Amino acid sequence: AKNAGRNRFSYFTPALQVAALNRMRMTNDLRSALKGGQFRVYFQPIVHLRSGKIHKAEALIRWEHPQRGLVSPLEFIPLAESSGLIIDIGEWVFMESARWASRWRRDHHPEFQVSVNQSPLEFQREGKGYEGWLVHLRELGLSGQAVVVEITEGLLLDASDGVTDKLLQLRDAGIQVALDDFGTGYSSLSYLKKFDIDYLKIDRSFTRNLAPESSDMALSEAIIVMAHKLGLRVIAEGVETHEQRDLLLAAGCDYGQGYLFARPVPAEEFDAMLMAQTRE
Ligand code: C2E
Ligand code: CA
Ligand code: CA
Ligand code: CA
Repeated sequence: AKNAGRNRFSYFTPALQVAALNRMRMTNDLRSALKGGQFRVYFQPIVHLRSGKIHKAEALIRWEHPQRGLVSPLEFIPLAESSGLIIDIGEWVFMESARWASRWRRDHHPEFQVSVNQSPLEFQREGKGYEGWLVHLRELGLSGQAVVVEITEGLLLDASDGVTDKLLQLRDAGIQVALDDFGTGYSSLSYLKKFDIDYLKIDRSFTRNLAPESSDMALSEAIIVMAHKLGLRVIAEGVETHEQRDLLLAAGCDYGQGYLFARPVPAEEFDAMLMAQTRE
């Protein structure tokens, strides 16, 4: 028995122990970051291509780490997911986003929308649905239309009853749904017909290679035409150049998002951007 006990530990090499310890420490850091108010929600404009006006914003989380400075979500979202903390973090992002959406609807545009990202784990969580969100929206005097939820294709591919239920709940609440990173995964257009999706976000990897008569141009055009036929509106991600913007506009794309317009910025800065636009 003593030997078995020793064997059980033998596969924990020091390197694995260090990795596990690091993960534990990072998880604790994440937990105290949430409690200690170290997270920020940044907002990036989503621009109506034809008018050039900001109609929407995507909420993107940042971690203002006391030692490390601004930490990218690409670094901590995976850990937040595997530790389950993503649920509480996501709730906080939603609350912040709704608060700003309420202000921007009041001060700038009555149809302004803020979109929030939902990891598969958040979207599929058991038990708790979106009731809490609805209560919060009601308290702010907001309709569900103020919020868009961004989900990824993978969720729909093996859509369980749970996923279908959640989509219906959102629909009932008037909350719209965007399919994020379109074109990176399985990209079956069949589920666009099957599920009630409002927006399709063309992934940055397509936008990057846009050039007249390129294959990515042809694909983007086809995606936009099909999306429109199915009643979806299209947002192109990662628009960095005027040429990309012009090609997308010519292809009939509805909205663009990317560094050409603005990087994600703190809420106060975004507010100033909207203010400048409203004064124009
Ligand atoms: P995403 O949802 O695909 O978000 C778009 C990412 O592209 C953002 O990275 C944004 O800063 C970046 N981006 C925007 N325009 C451009 C451009 O013109 N060029 C380039 N190169 N990049 C551009 P970010 O903010 O680092 O976020 C990375 C990912 O982290 C997001 O990808 C999303 O999957 C996840 N994420 C961010 N915030 C949240 C959140 O609150 N909850 C969850 N679950 N995930 C989040
Ligand atoms: Ca997104
Ligand atoms: Ca995306
Ligand atoms: Ca992504």
